[in-house]
Amino acid sequence: MTDPTPEPLPDDQHARVVVIGAGQAGLSVAYHLRRLGLTPGSDLVVLDRAPSTGGAWQFRWEALRLGWAHRVHDLPGMPEMGLRFEDADRSRPARDVVGEYYRRFEQYHGLQVRRPVAVTAVARVDGGLQVATRSADGRTQRIVAEAVVNASGTWGTPFVPWYPGRDTFTGRQVDTTEYRSADEFAGQDVVVVGGGTSAIGFLLELDGVARSTRWFTRRPVVWADGSALDVESAVAAVAEQDRAARAGEVLPSIVSGTGVPVSDRIREGLDHGVLRDEPVFTAMDPDGVVTRNGEHVHADAVIWATGFRADLRHLAPLHLRTEHGGVAVVDGQSVDEPRLFLAGYGPQASTIGANRAGRRTARQVMALLVRD
Ligand code: FAD
Repeated sequence: MTDPTPEPLPDDQHARVVVIGAGQAGLSVAYHLRRLGLTPGSDLVVLDRAPSTGGAWQFRWEALRLGWAHRVHDLPGMPEMGLRFEDADRSRPARDVVGEYYRRFEQYHGLQVRRPVAVTAVARVDGGLQVATRSADGRTQRIVAEAVVNASGTWGTPFVPWYPGRDTFTGRQVDTTEYRSADEFAGQDVVVVGGGTSAIGFLLELDGVARSTRWFTRRPVVWADGSALDVESAVAAVAEQDRAARAGEVLPSIVSGTGVPVSDRIREGLDHGVLRDEPVFTAMDPDGVVTRNGEHVHADAVIWATGFRADLRHLAPLHLRTEHGGVAVVDGQSVDEPRLFLAGYGPQASTIGANRAGRRTARQVMALLVRD
C-alpha cells in the first residue's frame, strides 16, 4: 500500500471522524475505522501535535531500552505486515523502535496522519463537534466532525505534587518528560520521587553516575512476586480504573494497583541497595528535603517521577469535568457528550488495553455515524 503525502487541509473542513493523537490508542482506532469503510484524509482525519511517529514513545529518554519497558504490544494490523515487537532488537532505545514501527504501520495502512498539528479546542457546533487546530507554522483550521476520538494520552501533563518549600528549592527540578540522561546528574546528590517504573529506571541509571541518590515514595513500593505483571492484580487495577472513569473521578495511578514486576535488572538493584524506598519527605528547602524524622537530605537535583494526568485540556469547551474532578467515561464513550470517545483512557491505558479497545471503539463510532 502507498503512503500518499497528505493534501493540505482547507481552512474549514468537514470530516466524519477526527482522531486526536497517533499513539497506540489513536492508531488502533484509526486502523479499525479504515477497515470499517472510512477513507483516511477525507472521512477520517488523524491529527498529532508531535513532530514524528511513535506517540509519547518518541520523547522517552535514550537509555530506556525496548527490553526494559514492561512490554509494548503490537498494533492490530502489524501481524499482516510481518512486524512484531518481539522480534525487535531489545537493546535498542524503545523510542527508536516504536517510532520506526509506527511509521511503517501508518504508511502501510495509509492512515495519512497530519503532524505536527495540535488540537487547541473541541466545541459543540451545529452539525457536530468542531475541532480547532494549529499547525507548527501557526496556521489554524477548523474541522467539523460527526464524532471525535480523543487519544491524546498523558505525556503532555506530567503531575508534580506540592510540598511545602518546593518553590524555595534552588537546585534543579525535572519531571519524567524532562529527563534526558543520567549524565546530566554526574557527581550530584539526587533525590528521586515516585514509586513507578520511571523512578526505578532513573535510580538504576544514576547508580555510579550521581554522587548519591535517595528515593522517596508516597506509599511503600510493592514488589510483585515475579518478573511479569501479575495478571490478577493487573485485572483488579484495570477494574479500579474503570470504576473511577465511570464515576467521573480523577484516575488512580496504575502502578499502585499492580505492584512492580521484579526483572533481573531490578533484582540486582535491590540486592545492591540501589532501590531502597523511604516514606516521602515532609518539606523542601533551598538545598534539599527534610524527611519525616527530621533528617535534612542535601540535593542538587530532584527528579519528579510522580505520574501523569490525562491530557484533556483541549476538551475544556465541552465542560465535561465532573464535581469529582474527572470526566465520566463508560466503555470509552463520554457520558455527557456521546459524540466524543476517549481511547486509551482509564481502563484502556496500556498498550494492550488501548489495542483491544480500538476495535470496540471503532464499532461504536460507526454505529453512531449510521444512526445519524
Ligand atoms: P500516547 O502514546 O501518549 O499518544 C498520544 C498522542 O497524542 C501523542 O502522539 C501526542 O502527540 C498526541 N496529542 C496529545 N495531545 C494532542 C493535541 N491536543 N492535539 C494533537 N495531538 C495530541 N505501556 C505499556 O503497555 N508498556 C510499557 O512498557 C510502558 N512503558 C511506559 C513507560 C513510561 C516511562 C511511561 C510514561 C508510560 C509507559 N507505558 C507503557 C504507558 C504508555 O504510555 C501507554 O501504554 C501508551 O504509550 C499510551 O498510548 P496512547 O496512544 O494512549 O498515548
